[in-house]
Amino acid sequence: MKPLKTGIIGAGPAGAWLASRLANAGFEVILFDPRAPWKKPCAGGLYTVIWDEFPELEPVKTLGLAGHKARLVTVKNDTVEIDFTRPLYIVDREKLGEFLLDQARASGAGFIPRKIEAFSQTDSGFEISDERGEHFQIDFLVGADGASSLARRRLAPGWSKLDFIFTLSGHVDRVVNFPLTFYFFPGFAGYGWIFPGRDAVSIGIGAKAGQYRAEEMIGLINQMAGSAPELGKKEFALGKDLSPAMIPGLSLRTLRNQKVAGKNWALVGDAAGAAHPVSGGGIHNAFRTAKCLADLLIAGTPELYQEKFWSFCKEELLVPCLWGPLFYKTSMQDLFAKMMVRSKSARILAGELLPGGKVKRGKVLNALLKALAETLF
Ligand SMILES: Cc1cc2nc3c(=O)[nH]c(=O)nc-3n(C[C@H](O)[C@H](O)[C@H](O)COP(=O)(O)OP(=O)(O)OC[C@H]3O[C@@H](n4cnc5c(N)ncnc54)[C@H](O)[C@@H]3O)c2cc1C
Repeated sequence: MKPLKTGIIGAGPAGAWLASRLANAGFEVILFDPRAPWKKPCAGGLYTVIWDEFPELEPVKTLGLAGHKARLVTVKNDTVEIDFTRPLYIVDREKLGEFLLDQARASGAGFIPRKIEAFSQTDSGFEISDERGEHFQIDFLVGADGASSLARRRLAPGWSKLDFIFTLSGHVDRVVNFPLTFYFFPGFAGYGWIFPGRDAVSIGIGAKAGQYRAEEMIGLINQMAGSAPELGKKEFALGKDLSPAMIPGLSLRTLRNQKVAGKNWALVGDAAGAAHPVSGGGIHNAFRTAKCLADLLIAGTPELYQEKFWSFCKEELLVPCLWGPLFYKTSMQDLFAKMMVRSKSARILAGELLPGGKVKRGKVLNALLKALAETLF
């Protein structure tokens, strides 16, 4: 099969990585993004497992700061220290974006820094139009345009509000000696974070969309900032310091109906709903879905992508989709707080899971039962 002329909407981790792989294989690729590379609202947490799977991304490690432990501040305001079994790297999103876009261009992908406004299916592919009204004929269209993807909204079944995690976050340009900190608050079914990176600190909060007012969430961010004088800033305001952004956090029903491919098109990364439905971590899965689609396009079998995506969902997203709704309940967060304080097994498990460690389901279940026993008796 002749390499297809591929148009990719979005040059985030999924789109830029896909562009590199396809261009390296001789495909003609055009990548569209009006903002990339940019400091996308994101904590930039990268699991070490990324480098096990993609050794070619090794240079990205040098863009980040390795976190070896976490501090959890529970709903009861107890502080618990968790030692990670592997580090979690906090990477500057703009630098990551630059690295990936440079790679894509060096591989021969074309980059057009414009927004795609519309597209329509033709007999042989798609015609897409950018914000200046310029049209492009392509054989294959990829939606790598993030959580609010235009491609997904036009080509796949709709998502509801509950399929999103709403976040408010920002950065403080400061170098601090502060562990990665997760915050839980009474009556708030979500979590906040302060993650120090190499040159800046990410601060933010997230919960299921539509559940809390922005002012309420800003209040909690300022509460976190108040407990971290190292930041040198106590008041964060929307617009000036904080930006809103969505992460896919799919419900089981949406996951089951999720369509990520059709005739001459496919979705990758957040556009496909590939972020972890509980933690919201999506960079690793952006790379994975991009690689999966690239391999199939190169092999001339893109029609297998929907099925492969399903296998990936079963492996990675199904279980968190099942227990995710429990996590986003305040009563469960009370139990979680108790577990973290009282149970060593729970802390050990958290030390494996939080930095993205692969733990067998049976082992997780065992550790959870042990943790429950240690908590309740
Ligand atoms: C506050 C916050 C914190 C997060 N923290 C983490 C974390 O610590 N670790 C982690 O793994 N994940 C985290 N995530 C999730 C992570 O940011 C995403 O999962 C990841 O960026 C997905 O990559 P992507 O390439 O699919 O989409 P994106 O990175 O969102 O890239 C999509 C790109 O498409 C472009 N685009 C959109 N529409 C158009 C259009 N019409 N035309 C052209 N271009 C378009 C955008 O400009 C953007 O550059 C966080 C997300 C948020 C919001």
